[in-house]
Amino acid sequence: MILGGGFAGAYCAQALQRQRGLDAEVVLIDRNNYFVFTPLLIEAGTGSIEPRHAVVPMRAFLKTAEFLMAEVIGADLERRRITYRLVGADADQAIDYDHLVIALGSVTRLPDVPGLREHGVELKSLADAVGLRDRSIALLERANATEDPQERRALLHFVVIGGNFTGVEAAGEGHMFLQQAARLYRHVDASEATVTLVELGDRILGALGDDLSEYAAAKLRARGMTILLGTTVTEITHDQVTLTDGSTLRTHTAIWCAGIAPNPVTKGWALPVDQRGYILCERDLRVRGMDNVWAIGDGAVNTDAGGNAYPATAQHAIQQGRVLAGNLAAVLGGRPTRPCDIRSRGSLAAIGCRTGVAEVYGIKLSGFAAWWLWRTVYLLKMPTLARKVRVALDWTIDFFFSRDYVQLGLHRTIRTPPDHDVQSGG
Ligand SMILES: Cc1cc2nc3c(=O)[nH]c(=O)nc-3n(C[C@H](O)[C@H](O)[C@H](O)COP(=O)(O)OP(=O)(O)OC[C@H]3O[C@@H](n4cnc5c(N)ncnc54)[C@H](O)[C@@H]3O)c2cc1C
Repeated sequence: MILGGGFAGAYCAQALQRQRGLDAEVVLIDRNNYFVFTPLLIEAGTGSIEPRHAVVPMRAFLKTAEFLMAEVIGADLERRRITYRLVGADADQAIDYDHLVIALGSVTRLPDVPGLREHGVELKSLADAVGLRDRSIALLERANATEDPQERRALLHFVVIGGNFTGVEAAGEGHMFLQQAARLYRHVDASEATVTLVELGDRILGALGDDLSEYAAAKLRARGMTILLGTTVTEITHDQVTLTDGSTLRTHTAIWCAGIAPNPVTKGWALPVDQRGYILCERDLRVRGMDNVWAIGDGAVNTDAGGNAYPATAQHAIQQGRVLAGNLAAVLGGRPTRPCDIRSRGSLAAIGCRTGVAEVYGIKLSGFAAWWLWRTVYLLKMPTLARKVRVALDWTIDFFFSRDYVQLGLHRTIRTPPDHDVQSGG
């Protein structure tokens, strides 16, 4: 039984199906019937690919395994039973397992910053990406019809909180999106559309070397973006954010990219966890002290031979999924398991305007070459040939034609006061 069909769970299910001679029934549960290819979420949100092309149908992964589209509700590890609710059903159901793989990922870390839950924008799911796009277009329309230049600037000012990979990509691509879209609006000047990136540390992209992080910061600043280091946001309202030093920035869009937290659904499952709530595992990916429960991906603490936890990234989640499939086959075949020894291949980030930074197998790249490598790597990593072709076509079309700045109308994107219950997102 695999809970969660993201990078860890879906790749584990796929690798299990490929184990020769394995006599096991594999069941995967996820609330969505698609797998989200998160590295392309920001591109989906800024229009260089179709949002649907950033996800892959779960059944494209699962040839022989069973799939249940359901919300995981609880687990009774003693009785080896999972409780779930099928999407749209009004009662819970239960299913028994022999081996349990917990691959439920993480959620956005939302600390107790006043106004964050109400006004902050997350960037974690397909709905978030599409919602941000719809919101940006709604704000452009509003700005175009606003005569007050101060208010127009506030409507077109995005504040991104968190200067790691997701925050930097969101800021870079988001800035480019606003700049290009603004040209279509008669009463908006592109210089009025700005992005501020707020980072608590002393540099952005802290996981990369100083030189690449400085390169990225210089490129973003040269495009007119503001980067504020050594500070964070202490309050968010519908039209401004307050910084640590008490100063305020006017904005209608505060995008929160400052960290992740364990999936709260596993709280209370009597699992061994660290002080932050992540599930502690043995080197073979088994949950500590348990025979038949395994945990992989963002929500688990899996360590290398030196005892260092593998980072919460897609590349590590995929490799953990594959190692776990081998270990499950070994256990079922009466063979010993092996420790999860996996290698980091490096990091890549696209920062907008066909520019990127990359550190791959120790080689550092920046500019167009890094951006090209970023696209090539993710195109090759995209599951299924059909999705690869669709994404490649989207990128080709994007190269020659301007983007469509239309709302998809799927989500309520801007909360309006209750006495003005207007649906701005469609
Ligand atoms: C915008 C963005 C960009 C990123 N870019 C990169 C990148 O370029 N490179 C990189 O290496 N990493 C990147 N990451 C990180 C990467 O996405 C994660 O590390 C990776 O997804 C972790 O895999 P996972 O399987 O643990 O979790 P996930 O992929 O999040 O999968 C968890 C699954 O569990 C399901 N689920 C959760 N709770 C329940 C429940 N109660 N019931 C049913 N189903 C449930 C979810 O629907 C989901 O499918 C990015 C993340 C984001 C948000």
